[in-house]
Amino acid sequence: MRLKEIEGWLRERDPARLDELWRRADEVRREAVGDGVHLRALVEISNHCVEGCHYCGLRAGNRRVERYRMSADEILACARRAAALGFGTLVLQAGTDPGLEAGWVVDLVRRIVAGQPLAVTLSLGEREEEALAAWRRAGAERYLLRFETSNVALYRRVHPDRPDRPSDRLRQLERLRALGYEVGTGMLVGLPGQTWGDLAADLLLLAELDPDMIGLGPFLPHPHTPLGMHAGAAGAYEVPADVETACKAIALARLLCPLANIPATTALATLDPAGGRSAGLRCGANVVMPNLTPPGYRRLYDIYPGKASLAAEGEEDLVALRAELGRLGRHVASGPGPSPAHARRLAGGRS
Ligand code: SAH
Repeated sequence: MRLKEIEGWLRERDPARLDELWRRADEVRREAVGDGVHLRALVEISNHCVEGCHYCGLRAGNRRVERYRMSADEILACARRAAALGFGTLVLQAGTDPGLEAGWVVDLVRRIVAGQPLAVTLSLGEREEEALAAWRRAGAERYLLRFETSNVALYRRVHPDRPDRPSDRLRQLERLRALGYEVGTGMLVGLPGQTWGDLAADLLLLAELDPDMIGLGPFLPHPHTPLGMHAGAAGAYEVPADVETACKAIALARLLCPLANIPATTALATLDPAGGRSAGLRCGANVVMPNLTPPGYRRLYDIYPGKASLAAEGEEDLVALRAELGRLGRHVASGPGPSPAHARRLAGGRS
């Protein structure tokens, strides 16, 4: 697909044409990755952050956040619970927190993979190459780092460089791939200042990067951030941050990257608690990330307001999720659920 065609789909308003987009994406999803939905257990291990991202409530400049960092024992307890509940993957996410010292994370990852059959995904922001390499050697298999927007000027505006370290997420993604990680990336939909052309270019960048995982979701304004404070009324910006637009982006991502693992993100479920997740799963997504962060910490991991965490406190929450998937004609996939795109690449081909 070319830029203009992608942009045409993004701007599409005709419900019949959109049904055609959902149908095509769902069909490609079924053929490429099947009806199984991979569940990833998400643990938000620290909300400290040295970055100043204008969209994120955890930004260093937000003095109102009560900061926490989980202990290794607390995280290991979450890992045991994830394994006991049948999860195959544990995602450790945090702000960009140098307090999560490289050697400490090495030890943590080793203990997790030694203790239970879990694939470990890290989403710890922009970190030094030596740390990324050490974590890979310790047994972490996947890393998530969104490029957020492919518009360089917009990126620089909403993601100011740290004085000691200019941001270069594309370079980190390259390094992660060279280190043998399964690599996940993606963008925000409806970021103030984003145009339809920008979002189309984001999707083309995804096609070019050919990621193993794609995470994208609507921008949700946080009142204690520069973008939240200045966010205008609904409709003030070209690209709406709504469920339909996010679903268009998911569907197009699926058409452009058939083999990628794509979650129906928490941001989508936050925007529409009743139907956001199912909508994502019907238009190309094949992953759901239930939140296993202890509730006292989860509340403080305040990236955006009203985060509709799909809590997985116990078996009964997963029973409800299984029922939801069943209604969509889908089922929970077992095992670690690596990306078929990664397997294809290792076998020597492009996905
Ligand atoms: N600090 C790490 C990971 C945590 S943030 C990192 O920067 O990679 C995870 C994702 O949440 C970000 O990549 C961003 O795309 C998304 N996010 C941040 N603020 C948001 C907001 N206000 N609305 C919607 N998504 C947001």
